Amino acid sequence: MTVEHAAELLRSARHGIAITGAGVSAESGIPTFRGEGGLWTKYDPVKVASIETFMADPASYWQAARERATAVLAARPNAGHVALARLEELGRLVAVVTQNTDGLHQDAGSRRVIELHGSGRTVACMTCGRREPRADVQARLDVEMPPRCRHCGSMFLKPTVVLFGEAMPAAEVQEAYDLAERSDVVLVVGSSLVVYPAADVPLAALRAGARMIVINAEPTPFDRLASVVIHGRSGEVLPEIAALTGA
Ligand SMILES: [Zn+2]
Repeated sequence: MTVEHAAELLRSARHGIAITGAGVSAESGIPTFRGEGGLWTKYDPVKVASIETFMADPASYWQAARERATAVLAARPNAGHVALARLEELGRLVAVVTQNTDGLHQDAGSRRVIELHGSGRTVACMTCGRREPRADVQARLDVEMPPRCRHCGSMFLKPTVVLFGEAMPAAEVQEAYDLAERSDVVLVVGSSLVVYPAADVPLAALRAGARMIVINAEPTPFDRLASVVIHGRSGEVLPEIAALTGA
């Protein structure tokens, strides 16, 4: 059985890493961007989520982001997040590298989380650099659009996520590659692996000799390179794997 094979690989892992994408959080009710029913079938991402548009018109960015953030801020980790934290606790994973910005891995108890696209839990003022929780900004959008920095009054308050046209955070990208180059097992979950650098980090792991496990609802370009491929829901598959690995 594939679940058993995945658990067997993880049991032997000394430096396992997980790479996660939107599919993991979709099961917590967080709307995905790509794919069927994704937000980007409704909005043009380059219009609503690019740094250029943000700088030109922060209010239009916040109006589009507001609706999604309501779901994101209310979301709780699902069984898939919890299973990944458990695998770290068991010593079978050393880190989770994620494309998600929702903070649910940390909520589930994962200790080492590398956020390639930043974090949606905080907002930073582009003028004075002060930060505040996203939830606080969200709470005043009803009366303030766009939201203003409480410290300096600037209207350029930006969530600490990577927008289109912005560079990935260099330290996190480097850390992800360092982890991949030392890994022996790479567990790719809920990511269609089409976005750089998330698509390239598993390749670095493979070059280093790691075995790959792919868990995704749909086929991915990496399936043929993987030792184990499971097409299913991560919230169902991961708990089974974690239970077998820890048994
Ligand atoms: Zn400010």
